[in-house]
Amino acid sequence: MARKAKTSLEAKLYILTLGTLFTVLLGVGHMAMSEYRSTLMEERIQSYDAVAHSLAFSASQLVEGGNEHLTDTVSAHVKNSRMDLEYIVIADNQGRTVFAESKNLPKKTNIKGMQWWAVVRRIMGYGNVSPENIHSVSVPVMIGNDKSGTLTAGFNLSSAQEMIDAVQSKVLLGLSLGLLVGTIFAFIMGRSMSGALRNLITGAKAVSAGDLNFRITTKSIDEIGQLAEAFNAMVENLANNQELLIERANTDCLTGLYNHRYFQEKLSSEINRASRYNHNLSLLMIDIDFFKGFNDEYGHPVGDAALRDLAQILIKNVRETDIAFRYGGEEFSVILPETSIEDAKVTAERIRQEVENHKFIDGEGQEHSLTVSIGVASYPDHCSSRASLLLAADVALYQAKSLGRNRVTIYDMDKSDLPQADPRKLYILLNAHDMPTIEALAEAVDAKLKLPSGHSRSVAQLASAVAAKMGMPEAECTSIYLASLLRDIGQIAIPDAILAKTRPLKKAEKSIVATHPSLGHAIVQKAPHLSTMLPAILHHHEHYDGTGYPSHLAGEEIPLAARIIAAADAYESMIIPRPHREPKTPAEARKELVELSSSQFDPKVVQALLDVLATNAEKDKAA
Ligand code: GH3
Ligand code: MG
Ligand code: MG
Repeated sequence: MARKAKTSLEAKLYILTLGTLFTVLLGVGHMAMSEYRSTLMEERIQSYDAVAHSLAFSASQLVEGGNEHLTDTVSAHVKNSRMDLEYIVIADNQGRTVFAESKNLPKKTNIKGMQWWAVVRRIMGYGNVSPENIHSVSVPVMIGNDKSGTLTAGFNLSSAQEMIDAVQSKVLLGLSLGLLVGTIFAFIMGRSMSGALRNLITGAKAVSAGDLNFRITTKSIDEIGQLAEAFNAMVENLANNQELLIERANTDCLTGLYNHRYFQEKLSSEINRASRYNHNLSLLMIDIDFFKGFNDEYGHPVGDAALRDLAQILIKNVRETDIAFRYGGEEFSVILPETSIEDAKVTAERIRQEVENHKFIDGEGQEHSLTVSIGVASYPDHCSSRASLLLAADVALYQAKSLGRNRVTIYDMDKSDLPQADPRKLYILLNAHDMPTIEALAEAVDAKLKLPSGHSRSVAQLASAVAAKMGMPEAECTSIYLASLLRDIGQIAIPDAILAKTRPLKKAEKSIVATHPSLGHAIVQKAPHLSTMLPAILHHHEHYDGTGYPSHLAGEEIPLAARIIAAADAYESMIIPRPHREPKTPAEARKELVELSSSQFDPKVVQALLDVLATNAEKDKAA
């Protein structure tokens, strides 16, 4: 099972991208800002020096006061300008103030006074000026008559700082905007990346679930786009390979026709389709006549070539919608969808004739002839399921063989006879897990034994009811039901000549008939899912006193299922007419069962059977 990620890849990507962006922007911003601040401050201070020096040129004139215009300009400059110049003080070389001007200074004062005034102004809320915020520049000056002095200009640093703060705010705003844009960009990137990855994940899941038609649609040409393309190419390859593998698995390599495996699959799907749309469906079973002799005479390779020729004849003589198969060995089959029994017969006859007229060439260029027998059966005319259609076509094929070969025979229910003990075919039929197939087999056995239709089913119903009466679990009752249906399957190997006898059988004939439980056991053994039925089939002719067959078991040694089937079979056989005797009444049959209790039958079973019959009679009366 897929482990659920704690944090999705997308979220991780966002966090990573945002974290990186934030760290980088903070680092770069901080470095840039501290660098920028000191540069700006340095430049500002340099400009203060320049201002102080330029004022120094006018110092003597300012001190002497001769140039009123100049004095006014400087005063106005200091008082009103939005410049940072806070005060100018010119002192003579004894330190006496000879000129002073300051923003809002009421009277001339010295530097100390200036600084204090600045503090007062700050307290009164006129400006953010403090002594430590004042940058003073002192320049030596000449103040008339070759007297020297000092001009000190005080500059208010806070305005410069405010300006720098404003610049910093703008830069920070820019950085935040950058971060926002970066975040949006990262989000879009993340979405497009994780979207493509999600597509890939969906694709991988679909492919692992067997959907090889899934393709990822992507417009991106980045690595993920390339990965998606590679993924698509891989799935395409897989699909092609799978198609090839399926085709190989479904094809018979000698003839190129579809094989037995695919026949089973196709027959099921075609039957389903026919039943869904109420269509006909016909089936041909084709077997080469005396092919063993052909092989023996001309060699296996010539036989192989003949099989290939026959495959070509089939392909040539069926419609596009029909499907030809090599069923196995020298047997072929054709499924004819939407085809009535009459049309199927026409196709079968055409194939038969074509084979008869075909020249099969051996290694020396000699021409030889072959013939085929074909059995035809149709759904729903002859049967109601896949397995019973197969059985019907097979029975028809064996009828064609027994009527002299080189002929087409349509399944005839009245003449139905089971294929003479071909265990491979029975194995296929028995392997069908559906009850109708087993019931159809039982019906065919009843027909061969000239028993009334439904006889085996009656035995099965009675036996399973007795089992239930004796408290056996439901699964075992079902198993006994099936075993009852299959109990006489071995009779298919008993020659008709013996079975058709109306007089009592001779000793030798009886011993042939007595082989049928062992034979049935051998046949059913080939179907693993029916293995639980084997003891009941093998021992259903044992007698409670040990005088039965084949193993002469007695009493409890006989499997309970076999004891139950024996009693139910005997009762149901007594009440039906047989060629050599009249049917017994139910009362007579019950009486005979009681008489044979402890000798032929298990008394406990007989008691349960009588109980079941009594219950059934009560139910019938009530109904
Ligand atoms: P019938 O008319 O009763 O069908 O007689 P048959 O000889 O055809 O029947 P049988 O089933 O006894 O023999 C089938 C033969 O088919 C046995 C085998 O030699 C031959 N055969 C089966 N598969 C192949 C194959 O792949 N190649 C060749 N050359 N022969 C095969
Ligand atoms: Mg054969
Ligand atoms: Mg044959």
